[in-house]
Amino acid sequence: MNEFDLIRRFFNRPPADGTVRLGVGDDAAVVTTTPGHELLLAIDTMVEGRHFFADAPPATLGHKILAVNLSDMAAMGAVPRWALLSGSLPDNDPAWLAAFSDGLFALAECHGVSLVGGDTVHGPRSFTLAIAGEAPAGAALTRAGAQPDDDIWVSGTLGEAALALAAMQHQIALDPLLLPVLRARLEMPEPRVGLGLKLRGLAHAALDVSDGLIGDLGHILTASGVGAEIELSRLPCHPALKALLDGASRPLALQCLLAGGDDYELCFTAPPAARKTLVALSRELMLPLTRIGAITAAPRLIVLDEQRQALPTLPAAYNHFPNR
Ligand code: ADP
Ligand code: MG
Repeated sequence: MNEFDLIRRFFNRPPADGTVRLGVGDDAAVVTTTPGHELLLAIDTMVEGRHFFADAPPATLGHKILAVNLSDMAAMGAVPRWALLSGSLPDNDPAWLAAFSDGLFALAECHGVSLVGGDTVHGPRSFTLAIAGEAPAGAALTRAGAQPDDDIWVSGTLGEAALALAAMQHQIALDPLLLPVLRARLEMPEPRVGLGLKLRGLAHAALDVSDGLIGDLGHILTASGVGAEIELSRLPCHPALKALLDGASRPLALQCLLAGGDDYELCFTAPPAARKTLVALSRELMLPLTRIGAITAAPRLIVLDEQRQALPTLPAAYNHFPNR
């Protein structure tokens, strides 16, 4: 199977809709954009040994490289539409490629996204996916715009992916029945695209939590020129993680909750007047939305513990290039 057979067999599937005039097979894809809309563009890379284990199930890798990009579209309130995939592959194992592309296309179909092109090279395993989405002109959600006295909300639960990773790296022993549940959060994140669309016109600022709540909320605070006070006891998490908070593993539990990566939940701010609407939205989407604190005028981030004392130090977010 040569490069072109491989592309035809595993990455050339019919587009999701009529917006794709020309997809895989030419020098560039040609798509039709919606009048009155803006394009939103994002890209993410996953490298073996850094973002995934060499023995990770290939279907989960296909899912995740798209999911992390969909999460960026969700954070901006965009409708995801077109994707480009660049893959560096150590071999052309058909079983591996079939599982990878099935994982990718299953999620693409759920969200009406068309894979319109890409690049395929021989090398150490890594993937880069670029995505394009649309939003009505001026409607995209950004990290700027949070205002003092806004509520701070997060979707879903936090820290489970990081807890799964800690267990897989033998930093902690977990109930063997629990591990698959947590591992699914790490390997098969569910991007909150529907929520992002509903937050247009409602949220003042939003982002997706991919590198840990503290660091990512910090990006909203910096972009908006404000501060925040959040409460540890309000952070939505799995009961198993909650239990760890009260025991000897509290430092690890805090790390997972506040700075664990790979949550792919949305964190957003909204005025208190939006509370009723957001509670109704949570029910409609069958997705927990939790108010975890408030935006302050003073530009610092305070995390209150269970006794309402400020945590003296906050765990640091993951950084590919830490200051030395
Ligand atoms: P070019 O050399 O003109 O850049 P390529 O030979 O790399 O084109 O690719 C041939 C076609 O297959 C192009 O349309 C490209 O977008 C598409 N393609 C290549 N790799 C992938 C991939 N992994 N997924 C989807 N489409 C791909
Ligand atoms: Mg090429």
